[in-house]
Amino acid sequence: MECIFCQIAKKKIKADIIWEDKDVIAVYDIDPKAKVHALIFPKSHLGKSAHEKKVGLALKQIFSAIRIVAQRTGIDKTGFRVVTNHLKDAGQTVDHVHFHLLGGHSLGRMCD
Ligand code: AMP
Ligand code: ZN
Repeated sequence: MECIFCQIAKKKIKADIIWEDKDVIAVYDIDPKAKVHALIFPKSHLGKSAHEKKVGLALKQIFSAIRIVAQRTGIDKTGFRVVTNHLKDAGQTVDHVHFHLLGGHSLGRMCD
């Protein structure tokens, strides 16, 4: 069974797509935690067992996608937060490398 993000990337499950290219896709989170809450992930499955080198290559593309999505959603000038939840202590629910992009209002300080 493919993971939910693989199914979104293959358009087997409908999602609100903000931007995509051949390798990376950005969609609105179904359960938003901020006015703008996007998820950015590689289209091909990269789970926690993925080779680090593969993740490293994907990160370059993901972070350039994040910049584009911030512009598209109008939060590039006001600011935003990028978050990744890794494993259970962070509450990760989907085992497919992904980044949350949050913004649209003041998010408060996260680390003091
Ligand atoms: P995480 O908990 O960090 O693994 O993030 C997974 C995120 O995926 C959560 O914020 C969910 O709300 C979101 N999510 C789960 N299913 C969908 C879906 N079908 N479309 C959009 N976002 C989803
Ligand atoms: Zn997947």
